[in-house]
Amino acid sequence: MRIDILTLFPEMCRAVYTESILGRAAEKGILTIESTNIRDYANNKHNRVDDAPYGGGAGMLMLAEPIFACFSALCDRLHTRPHLIFMSPKGNVLTQARAKELAQLENIAILCGHYEGVDQRVLDELVDEEISIGDYVLTGGELPALVLTDCIARMLDGTLSGEEAKSVESHYDGLLEFPQYTRPPVWHDRAVPDVLLSGHHANIDLWRRQQSLKETYEKRPDMFEKIELSPKDKKFMETLKKD
Ligand code: SAM
Repeated sequence: MRIDILTLFPEMCRAVYTESILGRAAEKGILTIESTNIRDYANNKHNRVDDAPYGGGAGMLMLAEPIFACFSALCDRLHTRPHLIFMSPKGNVLTQARAKELAQLENIAILCGHYEGVDQRVLDELVDEEISIGDYVLTGGELPALVLTDCIARMLDGTLSGEEAKSVESHYDGLLEFPQYTRPPVWHDRAVPDVLLSGHHANIDLWRRQQSLKETYEKRPDMFEKIELSPKDKKFMETLKKD
């Protein structure tokens, strides 16, 4: 898979995706991530990429033409048209389910807005999808683009060390993850639950399922409402609610 980030701050993006798990995924050839500087496509002598909004108001808007030229050149280089996502607080809020779907695509391009945003006409002409990373406003689309890239990358086979690592995380199956513990068995008088030291895998699985249900019920009742409960789950929830 290939992800292209179209941005005014390519170094900011590179600093993140060349490190750690994303960097290793690229080295293994699982994923190619590139950043392109939209400013390189400014078609005016001062390399301007922004201007004041018509109708007045605070701040500057990114010009349509450099973005159009940048994306067109990318399509020419790749000999294909990537699915273009605009990071925007007006978009659909990112979910694990959408990241999983996007991980099936061969080519994605992510457009990062800056300043007050982007001339609407280039969005109308090019953008396939708008994604938000939450109901708040950041100064630019670079951090949201990196959040999306990271979320997609860890869905790709081989990015994480074990298949299980991505399937037992919070949100993967609509539940929050169970609590996790590592050495030592007792720390500050707090003991690891006995079942996790028992070596009894069926009991450990049952405990983890029940703890996931408990976490989700207590922390995210909106998610809990959507879970399909087995008869065993229902019995556990009845006892939990009585306690
Ligand atoms: N004027 C815009 C509005 O009110 O919707 C906000 C512009 S914001 C200051 C600049 C850029 O940051 C946006 O164009 C977008 O690319 C990015 N951005 C800010 N918050 C975001 C969010 N929650 N999710 C995704 N992108 C965001």
